[in-house]
Amino acid sequence: MDFADSPERAAFRGKIRRWLETNLPPDICVDDAADQRVAPDRETLEKQQIPRLIELAKQLPTRQEPAWNETHIRQQLAQFAIEAKALQVTRLRGLTRRLRGEPPGPEGSILKLFGSELGVRISDFASTLLGPYAMVDAPTEAVPDASRWFHRVLGARQYTIAGGTSEIQRNIIGERVLGLPKG
Ligand SMILES: Cc1cc2nc3c(=O)[nH]c(=O)nc-3n(C[C@H](O)[C@H](O)[C@H](O)COP(=O)(O)OP(=O)(O)OC[C@H]3O[C@@H](n4cnc5c(N)ncnc54)[C@H](O)[C@@H]3O)c2cc1C
Repeated sequence: MDFADSPERAAFRGKIRRWLETNLPPDICVDDAADQRVAPDRETLEKQQIPRLIELAKQLPTRQEPAWNETHIRQQLAQFAIEAKALQVTRLRGLTRRLRGEPPGPEGSILKLFGSELGVRISDFASTLLGPYAMVDAPTEAVPDASRWFHRVLGARQYTIAGGTSEIQRNIIGERVLGLPKG
């Protein structure tokens, strides 16, 4: 199935959600709070933020040339795309587990930790790429969506705190998933 934005994808998600709502015990929410907090942001990483950063890298110069001409910029953007795809697959793995009637696994904590930390790294990259355009809370001629980046850069860190900090998520994964002794 093609998981790009499409009516089929929306229908697929709706079907899964309805199944979950019908079949899960009433005391279990369809989305756990930790996952839900980063879900909207994570959705935009792959579909909006990374493709837009690729456009901006082709447009904005570093040392007189488009940033895109620099190997390390292209490598970094490719790495972000790979990590965003890994998040998407992890989320689908969690859904599959629930569809099979299995208890929730480690996917929620991993999505929360990895998704919010990836969001911070992408925001740091964006602020370097955009330079002063990431500092203006208003559209500019060169970067009409500058205000959106301004808010993303300032706000990315909140997702590593709200709903349980990254340190706490690491403790949970270490103790409950990897079976490490309590520190
Ligand atoms: C944008 C935002 C929205 C929020 N929304 C809500 C909300 O709607 N409802 C709500 O109830 N709360 C909300 N919060 C609060 C949030 O849940 C807490 O800030 C968060 O759980 C961290 O708790 P704390 O601030 O008390 O930090 P603390 O627990 O005091 O932690 C301080 C630091 O110590 C670290 N730390 C603490 N314990 C350990 C440990 N055992 N091992 C390793 N490191 C540790 C933490 O990782 C952190 O870096 C929100 C927070 C933010 C930033």
